[in-house]
Amino acid sequence: MSARILLVEDEPDVSELILVNLRHAGFVVNAVDDAEKAWKLLREERPEAVLLDWLLPGMSGFQLIRHMRADQRCREVPVIMLTARSAEVDKIAALEAGADDYVTKPFSPRELVARVKAVLRRRDAKSIEEGVELGGLRLMPHTRKALAGKTPIVLGPTEFRLLHFLMTHAERVHSRGQLLDYVWGGRLHIEERTVDVHIRRLRCVLEDHQLDAMVQTVRGIGYRFSTGPTDA
Ligand code: CA
Repeated sequence: MSARILLVEDEPDVSELILVNLRHAGFVVNAVDDAEKAWKLLREERPEAVLLDWLLPGMSGFQLIRHMRADQRCREVPVIMLTARSAEVDKIAALEAGADDYVTKPFSPRELVARVKAVLRRRDAKSIEEGVELGGLRLMPHTRKALAGKTPIVLGPTEFRLLHFLMTHAERVHSRGQLLDYVWGGRLHIEERTVDVHIRRLRCVLEDHQLDAMVQTVRGIGYRFSTGPTDA
């Protein structure tokens, strides 16, 4: 599976060089030349990693990463900073702002590709840790396996993501709009009814294992995952 990378770089030559090399390495790359465009894309497309130039016209790379780290939808997306400065103080500033790694220009394209693969591996390792077990259900996102007790259950990819989100944010009520944001990545053309359809499918699968009561409707608000009794 090829990971989607967002490249934010205002120098056309540098951008082209990175683009060619990442595509050659099998990545799907979206390139933009300023941070405002990047910020918009980040919320629409959910790239799996961002390569971010430090000095950009308008909003700087530094400001963009601070926005990202404050936003629940892109907080976890790994960022590699591209910086022409080699002073130690800037590397520290990049890491403190929330970058996962940095590369100093001029860099070798092979090194850059290796760094991208490394941040993606670290991210994957993290999602294994984020497996969740609650009320007799167990989800392992890395392998996409779900168990009801010891019995494997088959969930569609959307139902899997939906259940994973609900279980990792259990006992909290989420509106349909919030679920669209977090589970579907805030894609604007999806209607809120879509959430209801996937909740129904999810309950249908869980019903076979008498676990559907944990996916609860909270009237007038939305849905929650709870191991406690329903309100209604
Ligand atoms: Ca620049």
